[in-house]
Amino acid sequence: MSQAGGSKRLGRKNAGRNAGVAGPRPALRAESGVARRRPFRLPFFEFSALSEYRVKQVVPGGSRLNGAFGWRNMVSMATATVSQFRNEPCADFSVPANREAMEKALAQVRSSFGREYPLRIGSERISTGDTLISVNPSNVMEVVGVHHRASAALANRAVESAWAAYPAWSRTPAEERARLLLEVARILRARKMEFDAWLVYEAGKTWPEAEADVSEGIDFCEYYAREMLRLAGPQPVVQMPGEVDEMLYIPLGVGVVIPPWNFPLAILAGMTVAALVTGNTVVLKPSSETPTIGAKFGEVLLEAGFPESCFTVLTGSGSAIGDVLVQHPKTRFICFTGSRDVGVRINELAARHQPGQIWIKRVIAEMGGKDPIVVDADSDLDSAVQGVFVSAFGYQGQKCSACSRAIVDSKVYDAFLEKLAARASAIQVGPCDDPRHYLGPVISESARKTILSYIEIGKAEGRIVVGGAAVPEGGYFVPPTVIADVAPTARIFQEEIFGPVLAVTRARDFEDAIDKANDSEYGLTGAVYSNDPAHLGQARERFHVGNLYFNRKCTGAMVGAHPFGGFNMSGTDSKAGGPDYLLLFLQAKAVAAKIT
Ligand code: NAP
Repeated sequence: MSQAGGSKRLGRKNAGRNAGVAGPRPALRAESGVARRRPFRLPFFEFSALSEYRVKQVVPGGSRLNGAFGWRNMVSMATATVSQFRNEPCADFSVPANREAMEKALAQVRSSFGREYPLRIGSERISTGDTLISVNPSNVMEVVGVHHRASAALANRAVESAWAAYPAWSRTPAEERARLLLEVARILRARKMEFDAWLVYEAGKTWPEAEADVSEGIDFCEYYAREMLRLAGPQPVVQMPGEVDEMLYIPLGVGVVIPPWNFPLAILAGMTVAALVTGNTVVLKPSSETPTIGAKFGEVLLEAGFPESCFTVLTGSGSAIGDVLVQHPKTRFICFTGSRDVGVRINELAARHQPGQIWIKRVIAEMGGKDPIVVDADSDLDSAVQGVFVSAFGYQGQKCSACSRAIVDSKVYDAFLEKLAARASAIQVGPCDDPRHYLGPVISESARKTILSYIEIGKAEGRIVVGGAAVPEGGYFVPPTVIADVAPTARIFQEEIFGPVLAVTRARDFEDAIDKANDSEYGLTGAVYSNDPAHLGQARERFHVGNLYFNRKCTGAMVGAHPFGGFNMSGTDSKAGGPDYLLLFLQAKAVAAKIT
């Protein structure tokens, strides 16, 4: 077993058919409707439709085109009703029954520690012998899973296998693909606390953070299933006289999906199911920090009924197989979430034409952030402190949306700092299977070292207000740190640290605060605490981030409500969990038929 090269592992860098519908494509229509009281069954669909909302297929007149073009096969059942999308509720762990269930799940998952996970390409299970050992960042002596790593040759095979599976999977009706996604959501819901526990042990998430991550993964499946049903219906093109005009969305081809470790279920699941539900085949390369969660999600996809040919979970080092996957001429698109540098590299490599390649690859890249919260002189200081606190220190500051810069009006600067320091210095740090700890470990030894070195830099660039507290041994723990009086030119103001380190900066006035907030190559999330409507209006116009929040934290984007993605070096602004997202995995085909 190789123990070398892993970050959190012992040693590496930070590391929705057809009941005989006659006529052309029926419209898929969303409308308000009366709640159904019992499950509704169609040949390929069954929905428990206790809803206020219906997705209904309306069949326009005319059967001639159907016969001529075989459209009967392209349409789905007459009426499918899905309930309106609702965000998955998170369990409240102050409820004794939920606490007991979580403790049971933790014990159950712990009993599966150390299992070996071979690779799978199509139906073939492959043990390469080159293994990746994933450990518990709260207790690095505990091996969570042992994973066989892919070689470059296997990466090439995985793309070829996805290419071979593409014709059949891309012709699978959209309704069937959406049904499978809803089944994934059902399975995840049924096994929610088990997944929570894997996230606690492999990613170092506290119970509530793990629960939020798994809930978001369920949301992505539920939301994208409905979105696919919408996009599979007729699109609003103008009808020319004497023609039937339409626009169809078709899939792209083979997609390489490369997620990060910090939302090891939600982001991994969201990117993968978006690619699959739109009819693409997928090679998924999970982060080397959280391969067990990737493998477990692969098991769920198979359990839900996804054919084993349409996706591969290809565990392996990004540096060893990433380039191979990105450069393969049959790779059609890359969906990446991770750091700025890796995103830029992928974009550059994908842009280079390879022999035999017959398309320009599409890159969806969501990257880092240096997210500011602006605290106005006229604001509710207690709620500002609370918002900054949870945004900066939730999941140890390891969220792309984490607040790493608090920019505070000089009139309330000292009072803000005092209240924040009192909160931050009371944080309990320790293993996150113990629910008393607010702050768990960071993901890896190399991440810990990087964060500590930024704290050293910060000592010269500002004034340590909170920091240096003793932390437990045996895991990758870092003390929560607040550094005040930081200038905008400081490295700790400009560079993503990805840990529990907050820079606080004084602003002359609101205008100056917005200027400072925009002084960054990133543009992911931001928040403003203010009671002044004019200032909020100003921020709405000038604060250049993909996700802007008023009088609330800058983390915790909700699927459906807060489509997520950033500007500038934060990425391609894909707006995951929003109505534009699935279009990134599709191409539009316009069909015009002369009829008179
Ligand atoms: P990372 O180091 O860039 O890794 C991300 C993924 O890329 C991993 O699966 C990694 O594999 C892979 N990879 C590494 N080198 C590669 C290469 N040469 N070619 C192809 N793939 C390669 O980022 P991370 O540490 O996992 O995640 C933290 C970063 O993600 C932060 O910057 C954070 O802000 C960002 N993030 C952004 C968003 C967003 O929506 N904007 C959301 C979450 C996180 P290995 O693990 O095997 O190296």
